[in-house]
Amino acid sequence: MDPDAPRTTPIVALAGGVGAARFLSGLVRAVAPEDVTAIVNTGDDCVFYGVHVSPDVDIVTYALAGRIDRARGYGLEGDTTAVIETLGALGHETWFRLGDRDFAHCQHRSCRLAQGVGLAAIADELRRALGVATRILPMSEAPCPTIVELSGRRRVHFEEYLARDGAPDDVEGVDLSAARAAAAAPGVLEAIAAARVILLCPSNPVVSIGPILAVQGVREALREARAPRVAVSPIVGGVPVKGPADRLLRGLGIEVSARGVARLYADLLDGFVLDQRDAAQAAEIEALGMRVCAVDTLMRTPDLATALARTALALARTAR
Ligand code: GDP
Repeated sequence: MDPDAPRTTPIVALAGGVGAARFLSGLVRAVAPEDVTAIVNTGDDCVFYGVHVSPDVDIVTYALAGRIDRARGYGLEGDTTAVIETLGALGHETWFRLGDRDFAHCQHRSCRLAQGVGLAAIADELRRALGVATRILPMSEAPCPTIVELSGRRRVHFEEYLARDGAPDDVEGVDLSAARAAAAAPGVLEAIAAARVILLCPSNPVVSIGPILAVQGVREALREARAPRVAVSPIVGGVPVKGPADRLLRGLGIEVSARGVARLYADLLDGFVLDQRDAAQAAEIEALGMRVCAVDTLMRTPDLATALARTALALARTAR
């Protein structure tokens, strides 16, 4: 069908970066890619080397384009690094590894922002340029930096915490006040209201899903949505598959477990897919008021990611 033809977008997925990208790549093999709208965290957005980088939006776009660098989990496969090497030789810090083609996409974003175009329209331009049929919506067009609060009253942007400092364990809080003050991007609340199924990807609950839920009106829209809402646990066997979710949850005094994540979303979920390794927590999670399904949630291959997406969709059909 004509990719530009207007159509309903029955599946909405809230997404962070790497875990979400794997899940969404599986989801778009289970349903028509154009029937999915990904609402993506922009709390990680930052200006590096003079260009506006949207790490999670770009990870999701590159993964759905089939061009993600699988080994790193971000960036474009086979990309070169002449730009940051040259900047490094000129004395710039180069801890944020932005490849050359990736840099060009971010340069495009910056040029378009300077022309007054919004982040949502720019994300749409980029995903279309990369041949992605799935709609990719940033959660907000306003700056929403996620700030990690560390011991000694230090406050750092999330990318400084993760990519520069290697995600230390002395987290004392996470400041989402910018997201709380931000309006949702055009299309976000409308997509949630129109959705037939809403999925929360297996993403970091504190710094990926947390900022999306903090944006004005989003949590309320999800609570009021007519669609069944199902989350996939990012915690497997009591630990994150990847990334600092354990350090961030601990820092906020939240149990590092599937149950701890389910509690964070308890007011807005109908269903929760947890890993079979955590199946002993199923009854307690059900007692929060949601249906639970325990399966292998480790997306080691595209087929396993597709199977996980099908499980989440099947749970959504019965959860409400
Ligand atoms: P980030 O912004 O790049 O950290 O990306 P996300 O927030 O989307 O992903 C991080 C989360 O994804 C971590 O908490 C991981 O545990 C989770 N994750 C990554 N791969 C998998 C997987 O194969 N299965 C499950 N269940 N979770 C995963």
